[in-house]
Amino acid sequence: MTVTAHAASASSLQAALGAELEHLRREGLYRDRACLEGPQGARVQLGSREMVSFASNDYLGLAADPRIAAAARAGAERFGVGAGASHLLYGHHRLHHELEETLADFVGFPRALLFSTGYMANLGTVTALCGRDAEVFADKLNHASLNDAMQLARARFRRYPHVDLDALERALARSSARRKLIVTDAVFSMDGDIAPVPELLALSERYDAWLLIDDAHGFGVIGAHGAGTLSHFAVRSERLIYMGTLGKAAGVFGAFVAADAPIIDYLVNRARTYIYTTAMPAMLVAALAESLRILRSEDGRRAHLSRLIAMLRSGIRTGDEKLLASQTAIQPLVIGEAADAVRRSQALAERGLLVPAIRPPTVPRGAARLRISLSAAHHVEDVEHLLAALRETAR
Ligand code: PMP
Repeated sequence: MTVTAHAASASSLQAALGAELEHLRREGLYRDRACLEGPQGARVQLGSREMVSFASNDYLGLAADPRIAAAARAGAERFGVGAGASHLLYGHHRLHHELEETLADFVGFPRALLFSTGYMANLGTVTALCGRDAEVFADKLNHASLNDAMQLARARFRRYPHVDLDALERALARSSARRKLIVTDAVFSMDGDIAPVPELLALSERYDAWLLIDDAHGFGVIGAHGAGTLSHFAVRSERLIYMGTLGKAAGVFGAFVAADAPIIDYLVNRARTYIYTTAMPAMLVAALAESLRILRSEDGRRAHLSRLIAMLRSGIRTGDEKLLASQTAIQPLVIGEAADAVRRSQALAERGLLVPAIRPPTVPRGAARLRISLSAAHHVEDVEHLLAALRETAR
Protein backbone atom coordinates (compact mmCIF):
# COMPACT_ATOMS: atom_id res chain seq x y z
CA MET A 1 0.00 0.00 0.00
CA THR A 2 1.23 3.52 -0.71
CA VAL A 3 1.63 6.23 1.89
CA THR A 4 -1.45 8.09 0.60
CA ALA A 5 -3.57 4.94 0.79
CA HIS A 6 -2.57 4.57 4.46
CA ALA A 7 -3.54 8.19 5.12
CA ALA A 8 -6.90 7.67 3.40
CA SER A 9 -7.78 4.60 5.51
CA ALA A 10 -6.74 6.39 8.71
CA SER A 11 -8.96 9.37 7.95
CA SER A 12 -11.89 7.08 7.05
CA LEU A 13 -11.51 5.39 10.45
CA GLN A 14 -11.62 8.82 12.12
CA ALA A 15 -14.68 9.78 10.09
CA ALA A 16 -16.46 6.56 11.05
CA LEU A 17 -15.66 7.02 14.75
CA GLY A 18 -16.68 10.67 14.56
CA ALA A 19 -20.05 9.72 13.07
CA GLU A 20 -20.62 7.17 15.83
CA LEU A 21 -19.76 9.72 18.52
CA GLU A 22 -22.16 12.21 16.89
CA HIS A 23 -24.89 9.56 17.07
CA LEU A 24 -24.16 9.04 20.79
CA ARG A 25 -24.43 12.82 21.33
CA ARG A 26 -27.80 12.98 19.57
CA GLU A 27 -29.11 10.08 21.69
CA GLY A 28 -27.93 11.65 24.96
CA LEU A 29 -25.49 8.74 25.38
CA TYR A 30 -22.18 10.55 24.91
CA ARG A 31 -19.86 10.08 27.86
CA ASP A 32 -17.48 12.65 29.18
CA ARG A 33 -15.31 13.03 32.26
CA ALA A 34 -15.36 15.76 34.87
CA CYS A 35 -12.09 16.46 36.73
CA LEU A 36 -12.05 16.38 40.51
CA GLU A 37 -9.60 18.82 42.04
CA GLY A 38 -9.46 17.55 45.63
CA PRO A 39 -9.98 14.25 47.46
CA GLN A 40 -12.91 11.87 46.90
CA GLY A 41 -15.68 12.13 49.49
CA ALA A 42 -19.14 13.37 50.36
CA ARG A 43 -17.94 16.82 49.29
CA VAL A 44 -15.88 17.11 46.14
CA GLN A 45 -14.38 20.00 44.25
CA LEU A 46 -15.24 20.17 40.56
CA GLY A 47 -13.41 23.06 38.93
CA SER A 48 -13.93 25.94 41.35
CA ARG A 49 -17.21 24.58 42.76
CA GLU A 50 -17.72 22.47 45.87
CA MET A 51 -20.49 19.93 45.37
CA VAL A 52 -22.18 17.42 47.66
CA SER A 53 -21.51 14.11 45.93
CA PHE A 54 -23.94 11.21 45.74
CA ALA A 55 -21.82 9.70 43.01
CA SER A 56 -19.06 7.62 44.56
CA ASN A 57 -18.88 4.05 45.85
CA ASP A 58 -16.98 5.32 48.89
CA TYR A 59 -19.83 4.02 51.07
CA LEU A 60 -18.06 4.34 54.40
CA GLY A 61 -16.28 7.62 53.68
CA LEU A 62 -12.82 6.03 53.88
CA ALA A 63 -11.35 7.04 50.51
CA ALA A 64 -9.61 10.09 51.97
CA ASP A 65 -9.32 8.94 55.60
CA PRO A 66 -6.10 10.47 57.01
CA ARG A 67 -5.22 7.27 58.92
CA ILE A 68 -5.25 5.27 55.68
CA ALA A 69 -3.26 7.96 53.88
CA ALA A 70 -0.70 7.82 56.72
CA ALA A 71 -0.47 4.02 56.39
CA ALA A 72 0.14 4.40 52.64
CA ARG A 73 2.88 6.98 53.33
CA ALA A 74 4.55 4.75 55.93
CA GLY A 75 4.30 1.81 53.51
CA ALA A 76 5.92 3.84 50.72
CA GLU A 77 8.73 4.94 53.01
CA ARG A 78 9.48 1.35 54.07
CA PHE A 79 8.86 -0.52 50.84
CA GLY A 80 9.02 2.07 48.07
CA VAL A 81 6.23 2.63 45.59
CA GLY A 82 6.49 0.13 42.76
CA ALA A 83 5.96 -3.63 43.16
CA GLY A 84 8.29 -4.06 40.19
CA ALA A 85 7.25 -7.59 39.20
CA SER A 86 4.35 -10.00 39.02
CA HIS A 87 3.44 -12.19 42.00
CA LEU A 88 4.90 -15.37 40.55
CA LEU A 89 8.20 -13.70 39.63
CA TYR A 90 9.23 -12.19 42.97
CA GLY A 91 6.71 -9.36 43.19
CA HIS A 92 4.80 -11.16 45.97
CA HIS A 93 5.40 -9.55 49.35
CA ARG A 94 4.90 -10.66 52.94
CA LEU A 95 2.30 -7.85 53.20
CA HIS A 96 0.21 -9.38 50.36
CA HIS A 97 0.36 -12.70 52.13
CA GLU A 98 -0.76 -11.29 55.48
CA LEU A 99 -3.58 -9.26 53.93
CA GLU A 100 -4.85 -12.37 52.14
CA GLU A 101 -4.98 -14.19 55.48
CA THR A 102 -6.83 -11.30 57.11
CA LEU A 103 -9.36 -11.11 54.26
CA ALA A 104 -9.98 -14.87 54.20
CA ASP A 105 -10.59 -14.91 57.94
CA PHE A 106 -12.91 -11.88 57.74
CA VAL A 107 -15.20 -13.30 55.05
CA GLY A 108 -15.07 -16.87 56.42
CA PHE A 109 -13.05 -18.84 53.85
CA PRO A 110 -9.86 -20.87 54.20
CA ARG A 111 -7.94 -18.81 51.65
CA ALA A 112 -8.00 -15.57 49.65
CA LEU A 113 -6.10 -14.16 46.68
CA LEU A 114 -5.51 -10.46 45.96
CA PHE A 115 -6.14 -9.10 42.48
CA SER A 116 -5.37 -5.60 41.21
CA THR A 117 -9.03 -4.79 40.43
CA GLY A 118 -12.45 -6.39 40.66
CA TYR A 119 -12.66 -6.41 36.90
CA MET A 120 -9.50 -8.48 36.74
CA ALA A 121 -10.63 -10.76 39.57
CA ASN A 122 -13.85 -11.61 37.71
CA LEU A 123 -12.10 -12.06 34.38
CA GLY A 124 -9.34 -14.21 35.84
CA THR A 125 -11.59 -16.39 37.97
CA VAL A 126 -14.26 -17.19 35.39
CA THR A 127 -11.78 -17.82 32.57
CA ALA A 128 -9.62 -20.05 34.79
CA LEU A 129 -12.51 -22.16 36.06
CA CYS A 130 -14.56 -22.37 32.86
CA GLY A 131 -13.38 -23.63 29.52
CA ARG A 132 -15.30 -24.69 26.43
CA ASP A 133 -16.84 -27.64 28.25
CA ALA A 134 -18.37 -25.48 30.97
CA GLU A 135 -21.66 -23.63 31.15
CA VAL A 136 -22.09 -20.32 32.96
CA PHE A 137 -25.47 -19.13 34.27
CA ALA A 138 -25.64 -15.38 34.79
CA ASP A 139 -28.20 -12.90 36.07
CA LYS A 140 -29.20 -10.45 33.32
CA LEU A 141 -28.27 -7.47 35.51
CA ASN A 142 -24.77 -8.67 36.39
CA HIS A 143 -21.85 -6.28 36.16
CA ALA A 144 -20.11 -5.86 32.81
CA SER A 145 -16.94 -7.53 34.12
CA LEU A 146 -18.83 -10.80 34.75
CA ASN A 147 -20.40 -10.61 31.29
CA ASP A 148 -17.03 -9.98 29.66
CA ALA A 149 -15.53 -12.84 31.68
CA MET A 150 -18.08 -15.33 30.28
CA GLN A 151 -17.38 -14.22 26.72
CA LEU A 152 -13.65 -14.50 27.19
CA ALA A 153 -13.98 -17.95 28.79
CA ARG A 154 -15.57 -19.22 25.57
CA ALA A 155 -17.87 -21.29 27.73
CA ARG A 156 -21.50 -21.70 26.79
CA PHE A 157 -23.48 -19.15 28.78
CA ARG A 158 -27.10 -18.40 29.63
CA ARG A 159 -28.31 -15.12 31.03
CA TYR A 160 -31.44 -15.60 33.12
CA PRO A 161 -33.96 -12.79 33.80
CA HIS A 162 -33.08 -10.78 36.90
CA VAL A 163 -33.33 -13.00 40.03
CA ASP A 164 -35.69 -15.39 38.19
CA LEU A 165 -34.91 -18.58 40.12
CA ASP A 166 -37.38 -20.67 38.11
CA ALA A 167 -35.73 -19.72 34.82
CA LEU A 168 -32.32 -20.46 36.34
CA GLU A 169 -33.49 -23.85 37.59
CA ARG A 170 -34.90 -24.78 34.16
CA ALA A 171 -31.59 -23.86 32.53
CA LEU A 172 -29.60 -25.84 35.10
CA ALA A 173 -31.85 -28.86 34.68
CA ARG A 174 -31.33 -28.83 30.89
CA SER A 175 -27.56 -28.48 31.07
CA SER A 176 -25.31 -31.43 30.44
CA ALA A 177 -22.10 -29.42 30.89
CA ARG A 178 -19.30 -31.08 32.81
CA ARG A 179 -18.84 -27.98 34.95
CA LYS A 180 -21.54 -25.47 35.80
CA LEU A 181 -20.99 -22.04 37.33
CA ILE A 182 -23.68 -19.62 38.50
CA VAL A 183 -22.40 -16.03 38.61
CA THR A 184 -24.21 -13.12 40.24
CA ASP A 185 -23.74 -9.68 41.68
CA ALA A 186 -24.50 -9.90 45.41
CA VAL A 187 -25.71 -6.29 45.53
CA PHE A 188 -26.69 -5.26 42.00
CA SER A 189 -24.60 -2.26 41.08
CA MET A 190 -27.25 -0.21 39.28
CA ASP A 191 -30.36 -1.44 41.12
CA GLY A 192 -29.11 -1.82 44.69
CA ASP A 193 -31.13 -4.98 45.43
CA ILE A 194 -29.54 -8.02 47.09
CA ALA A 195 -29.38 -11.37 45.26
CA PRO A 196 -31.23 -14.28 46.93
CA VAL A 197 -27.98 -16.02 47.85
CA PRO A 198 -29.43 -18.86 50.01
CA GLU A 199 -31.79 -19.87 47.17
CA LEU A 200 -28.99 -19.62 44.59
CA LEU A 201 -26.81 -21.79 46.80
CA ALA A 202 -29.59 -24.38 47.16
CA LEU A 203 -29.86 -24.54 43.35
CA SER A 204 -26.11 -24.86 42.98
CA GLU A 205 -26.20 -27.81 45.39
CA ARG A 206 -29.15 -29.45 43.68
CA TYR A 207 -27.58 -29.20 40.22
CA ASP A 208 -23.94 -29.73 41.14
CA ALA A 209 -22.91 -26.20 40.17
CA TRP A 210 -20.48 -23.65 41.63
CA LEU A 211 -21.66 -20.23 42.77
CA LEU A 212 -19.53 -17.11 42.22
CA ILE A 213 -20.74 -14.13 44.25
CA ASP A 214 -19.51 -10.66 43.23
CA ASP A 215 -19.81 -8.61 46.43
CA ALA A 216 -18.33 -5.37 45.11
CA HIS A 217 -21.14 -3.35 46.72
CA GLY A 218 -21.81 -5.49 49.80
CA PHE A 219 -18.30 -5.98 51.18
CA GLY A 220 -17.76 -3.50 54.01
CA VAL A 221 -21.36 -2.30 53.89
CA ILE A 222 -23.59 -5.20 54.99
CA GLY A 223 -23.11 -8.28 57.18
CA ALA A 224 -21.51 -8.51 60.64
CA HIS A 225 -18.91 -5.69 60.95
CA GLY A 226 -19.16 -5.26 57.17
CA ALA A 227 -18.13 -8.83 56.32
CA GLY A 228 -20.45 -8.72 53.31
CA THR A 229 -23.40 -10.51 51.78
CA LEU A 230 -22.53 -14.06 52.84
CA SER A 231 -22.38 -12.88 56.44
CA HIS A 232 -25.65 -10.96 55.91
CA PHE A 233 -27.36 -14.26 54.96
CA ALA A 234 -25.18 -16.40 57.30
CA VAL A 235 -24.37 -18.88 54.49
CA ARG A 236 -21.22 -20.90 53.96
CA SER A 237 -20.45 -23.64 51.49
CA GLU A 238 -17.59 -25.32 49.69
CA ARG A 239 -19.45 -24.48 46.49
CA LEU A 240 -19.08 -20.74 47.04
CA ILE A 241 -16.46 -18.53 45.46
CA TYR A 242 -16.49 -15.00 46.83
CA MET A 243 -15.19 -11.85 45.11
CA GLY A 244 -14.90 -8.63 47.11
CA THR A 245 -13.53 -5.30 45.91
CA LEU A 246 -11.30 -2.97 47.89
CA GLY A 247 -11.78 0.29 45.97
CA LYS A 248 -15.35 0.93 47.11
CA ALA A 249 -16.32 0.66 50.82
CA ALA A 250 -12.70 -0.18 51.74
CA GLY A 251 -11.69 3.13 50.18
CA VAL A 252 -8.40 2.02 48.57
CA PHE A 253 -7.95 -0.14 45.45
CA GLY A 254 -7.92 -3.75 44.40
CA ALA A 255 -10.00 -6.86 44.96
CA PHE A 256 -9.79 -10.41 46.28
CA VAL A 257 -11.26 -13.81 45.66
CA ALA A 258 -11.91 -16.07 48.66
CA ALA A 259 -12.58 -19.80 48.40
CA ASP A 260 -11.34 -23.23 49.42
CA ALA A 261 -7.59 -23.86 49.15
CA PRO A 262 -7.60 -25.92 45.92
CA ILE A 263 -9.55 -23.19 44.12
CA ILE A 264 -7.14 -20.48 45.22
CA ASP A 265 -4.10 -22.61 44.34
CA TYR A 266 -5.65 -23.27 40.96
CA LEU A 267 -6.20 -19.52 40.38
CA VAL A 268 -2.55 -18.82 41.27
CA ASN A 269 -1.61 -21.26 38.51
CA ARG A 270 -4.28 -20.46 35.94
CA ALA A 271 -5.86 -17.01 36.37
CA ARG A 272 -4.24 -14.99 33.60
CA THR A 273 -5.17 -11.60 35.11
CA TYR A 274 -3.29 -12.68 38.25
CA ILE A 275 -0.27 -14.19 36.55
CA TYR A 276 0.48 -11.77 33.75
CA THR A 277 0.35 -8.47 35.59
CA THR A 278 2.39 -6.45 38.05
CA ALA A 279 1.58 -7.07 41.72
CA MET A 280 -0.28 -4.45 43.72
CA PRO A 281 2.24 -2.05 45.31
CA ALA A 282 3.05 -2.90 48.96
CA MET A 283 2.22 0.69 49.96
CA LEU A 284 -1.40 0.06 48.86
CA VAL A 285 -1.43 -3.21 50.76
CA ALA A 286 -0.27 -1.32 53.87
CA ALA A 287 -3.10 1.18 53.29
CA LEU A 288 -5.58 -1.70 52.90
CA ALA A 289 -4.50 -3.31 56.18
CA GLU A 290 -5.34 -0.04 57.96
CA SER A 291 -8.58 0.43 56.03
CA LEU A 292 -9.73 -3.08 57.00
CA ARG A 293 -8.97 -2.42 60.63
CA ILE A 294 -11.15 0.71 60.49
CA LEU A 295 -13.85 -0.92 58.36
CA ARG A 296 -14.27 -3.82 60.81
CA SER A 297 -14.13 -1.83 64.01
CA GLU A 298 -16.21 1.27 63.23
CA ASP A 299 -19.75 -0.12 63.14
CA GLY A 300 -21.04 3.41 63.74
CA ARG A 301 -20.35 4.20 60.07
CA ARG A 302 -22.71 1.46 58.94
CA ALA A 303 -25.34 2.49 61.52
CA HIS A 304 -25.24 6.09 60.26
CA LEU A 305 -25.45 4.92 56.65
CA SER A 306 -28.54 2.82 57.51
CA ARG A 307 -30.20 5.88 59.05
CA LEU A 308 -29.51 7.92 55.90
CA ILE A 309 -30.92 5.16 53.67
CA ALA A 310 -34.14 5.05 55.75
CA MET A 311 -34.36 8.84 55.70
CA LEU A 312 -33.99 9.08 51.92
CA ARG A 313 -36.53 6.35 51.29
CA SER A 314 -39.15 7.74 53.62
CA GLY A 315 -38.61 11.34 52.47
CA ILE A 316 -38.76 10.87 48.74
CA ARG A 317 -41.96 11.81 46.89
CA THR A 318 -42.01 10.23 43.49
CA GLY A 319 -44.19 11.34 40.62
CA ASP A 320 -43.58 9.75 37.23
CA GLU A 321 -40.32 8.30 38.39
CA LYS A 322 -39.74 5.20 40.45
CA LEU A 323 -37.45 4.65 43.42
CA LEU A 324 -36.32 1.03 43.16
CA ALA A 325 -36.83 -1.30 46.13
CA SER A 326 -33.30 -1.21 47.48
CA GLN A 327 -32.21 -1.47 51.11
CA THR A 328 -28.57 -0.73 50.36
CA ALA A 329 -26.50 2.42 49.86
CA ILE A 330 -27.39 2.37 46.15
CA GLN A 331 -30.76 4.11 45.72
CA PRO A 332 -31.76 4.33 42.05
CA LEU A 333 -34.48 6.70 40.87
CA VAL A 334 -35.63 5.49 37.46
CA ILE A 335 -36.44 8.40 35.13
CA GLY A 336 -36.88 6.63 31.77
CA GLU A 337 -35.31 8.33 28.77
CA ALA A 338 -31.56 8.97 28.82
CA ALA A 339 -31.93 12.65 27.87
CA ASP A 340 -34.42 13.26 30.72
CA ALA A 341 -32.10 11.58 33.23
CA VAL A 342 -29.22 13.77 32.04
CA ARG A 343 -31.35 16.94 32.30
CA ARG A 344 -32.41 16.01 35.83
CA SER A 345 -28.83 15.31 36.83
CA GLN A 346 -27.84 18.74 35.42
CA ALA A 347 -30.67 20.46 37.32
CA LEU A 348 -29.39 18.87 40.55
CA ALA A 349 -25.83 19.92 39.69
CA GLU A 350 -27.04 23.54 39.41
CA ARG A 351 -28.16 23.14 43.04
CA GLY A 352 -24.73 21.88 44.09
CA LEU A 353 -25.56 18.16 44.06
CA LEU A 354 -23.69 15.53 42.12
CA VAL A 355 -26.00 12.63 41.19
CA PRO A 356 -24.97 10.73 38.07
CA ALA A 357 -27.38 9.81 35.29
CA ILE A 358 -26.89 6.15 34.37
CA ARG A 359 -27.77 5.45 30.76
CA PRO A 360 -27.82 2.55 28.32
CA PRO A 361 -25.89 0.37 27.73
CA THR A 362 -25.14 0.28 31.48
CA VAL A 363 -28.90 -0.06 32.12
CA PRO A 364 -31.69 -1.19 29.75
CA ARG A 365 -33.21 1.26 27.24
CA GLY A 366 -36.03 3.30 28.75
CA ALA A 367 -34.69 2.68 32.27
CA ALA A 368 -32.15 5.50 32.53
CA ARG A 369 -31.85 6.58 36.12
CA LEU A 370 -30.28 8.73 38.75
CA ARG A 371 -28.01 6.52 40.83
CA ILE A 372 -28.07 8.05 44.30
CA SER A 373 -25.22 6.62 46.27
CA LEU A 374 -25.22 7.27 50.00
CA SER A 375 -22.17 7.33 52.22
CA ALA A 376 -21.49 7.30 55.94
CA ALA A 377 -19.70 10.59 55.28
CA HIS A 378 -22.97 12.34 54.37
CA HIS A 379 -24.69 14.50 56.96
CA VAL A 380 -28.42 14.39 57.60
CA GLU A 381 -28.54 17.92 56.08
CA ASP A 382 -27.02 16.60 52.83
CA VAL A 383 -29.89 14.14 52.42
CA GLU A 384 -32.41 16.88 53.33
CA HIS A 385 -30.84 19.10 50.67
CA LEU A 386 -31.08 16.26 48.11
CA LEU A 387 -34.73 15.54 48.98
CA ALA A 388 -35.65 19.22 48.58
CA ALA A 389 -33.79 19.48 45.27
CA LEU A 390 -35.44 16.31 43.94
CA ARG A 391 -38.84 17.81 44.74
CA GLU A 392 -37.98 21.12 43.06
CA THR A 393 -36.70 19.49 39.90
CA ALA A 394 -39.51 16.94 39.48
CA ARG A 395 -41.57 17.39 36.35
N1 PMP B 1 -18.25 -5.95 40.08
C1 PMP B 1 -19.19 -5.02 40.28
C2 PMP B 1 -20.58 -5.47 40.64
C3 PMP B 1 -18.87 -3.67 40.16
O1 PMP B 1 -19.80 -2.73 40.35
C4 PMP B 1 -17.54 -3.30 39.83
C5 PMP B 1 -17.10 -1.86 39.71
N2 PMP B 1 -18.01 -0.95 39.26
C6 PMP B 1 -16.60 -4.31 39.61
C7 PMP B 1 -16.98 -5.63 39.75
C8 PMP B 1 -15.21 -3.99 39.22
O2 PMP B 1 -14.44 -3.66 40.33
P1 PMP B 1 -13.17 -2.72 40.18
O3 PMP B 1 -13.69 -1.33 40.12
O4 PMP B 1 -12.34 -3.01 41.38
O5 PMP B 1 -12.51 -3.14 38.91
